[in-house]
Amino acid sequence: DFIKESMNIVIVGHVDHGKSTIIGRLLADTDSLPKGKLEQVKEKCRRSSKPFEYAFLLDALKDEQEQGITIDAARCFFNTKKRDYIIIDAPGHIEFLKNMVTGASRAEVALLVIDANEGIKENSKRHGYLLSMLGIKKIAVLVNKMDLVDYDEEIYEKIVEGYTEFLEQIDIKPEAFVPVSGFEGVNIAEKSKETPWYGGKSVLDLLDSFETMRPELDQPFRMPIQGVYKFTKKGDKRRIVAGTIETGKFKVGDEVVFYPSGKKSRVKTIESLNKSDIKEAHSGYATGFTLDEQIYVKRGEVAALASEQRLDYSTRIRGNIFWLGTKPITIGSEYMLKIGTAKSIAKVEKIVRVIDASNLKNEQKGHVDRHDVAEIIFKTAKPIAFDLADKLSATSRFVIVDDYEISGGGIVVESLDSEENKT
Ligand code: GDP
Repeated sequence: DFIKESMNIVIVGHVDHGKSTIIGRLLADTDSLPKGKLEQVKEKCRRSSKPFEYAFLLDALKDEQEQGITIDAARCFFNTKKRDYIIIDAPGHIEFLKNMVTGASRAEVALLVIDANEGIKENSKRHGYLLSMLGIKKIAVLVNKMDLVDYDEEIYEKIVEGYTEFLEQIDIKPEAFVPVSGFEGVNIAEKSKETPWYGGKSVLDLLDSFETMRPELDQPFRMPIQGVYKFTKKGDKRRIVAGTIETGKFKVGDEVVFYPSGKKSRVKTIESLNKSDIKEAHSGYATGFTLDEQIYVKRGEVAALASEQRLDYSTRIRGNIFWLGTKPITIGSEYMLKIGTAKSIAKVEKIVRVIDASNLKNEQKGHVDRHDVAEIIFKTAKPIAFDLADKLSATSRFVIVDDYEISGGGIVVESLDSEENKT
């Protein structure tokens, strides 16, 4: 049977620039709303003599989800002939951060919304920075509310120019800019006559033109260990190493290395709940394997292949982070750092620099405030394994937990010598 593919997208932008309106439009114009929902919301507006807004559709759906059995209020779905789209929660939200870093649901594409009438705001820049840090490289910029500027090409081009320049500084090259009006539905589902000067695609056609990427398959094998379990098969006692494959693939007979312990063995069997005789497994799969030799590995280690690029490990790392915690980060503060399934207490050894993400300027201060981006040196209580962000981004991401709450996230940019390693 033909299974449609799906793509996770995230819609970001300054408050009131029109994210909810555009989402409402996308849902309505693709017939993805529950039956009668549009009429119901319109009728409700009529009765309370409020003008109808597409953004209300989103609120109505969220209310319903909260009352019903669906727990995932942060998600919305729409589909085209080509595929299903899942709109996931926005950056700046802890939930989003958590999902991106843990891999629970990673956005492949971001739509960045800018109000044509208001122009580029701090958040338009801040969000661009977050996206680049989280490794979302496929970005389309929607210049919204074009109706408010009479679909003026010059105003549009000015925003395109200004924002392209900013994105260049953070190494992002957007796939496209689209002039839209969420309000009037211009260039959302179809190209509209209001912008004859625009030669590109409608938002939906643009999304459909993006390829879903599975580059993880060509990357080195990485599997953070969830746990090691004992089981008996045909009277034979075995230990199964379980986890979800982050990137790459492995097969029976491969030599695996565990980091940071450095222990090695060969894959004897690949185990799965409902399949037998699996010879190979690849990224995205939750799986387990048994080994030729009994070696003791534990949760928090990362399995890699001896024949591929090695992982780094250290007790001192330099990270690029963004902070969403309410208490500022100061030198000497202690947090729980989580990379994959590994965790360790980590102390802030040095605040190398603090960057204002809205203008990329360095700020002279000795602490990191909420919404700041910073470069920090952490000293961890025990060795932790990772890849460097420019080599393999998935296994370079970490979250910073303060008092049981995820309060920030980042990527490892450098592995530093730890005191213990210095001789
Ligand atoms: P969000 O905070 O980014 O989700 O913004 P909303 O979607 O809630 O929109 C904020 C306000 O801008 C609402 O009153 C919308 O009706 C209005 N709005 C959104 N898109 C457009 C547009 O294309 N044209 C006009 N004129 N107003 C819009």
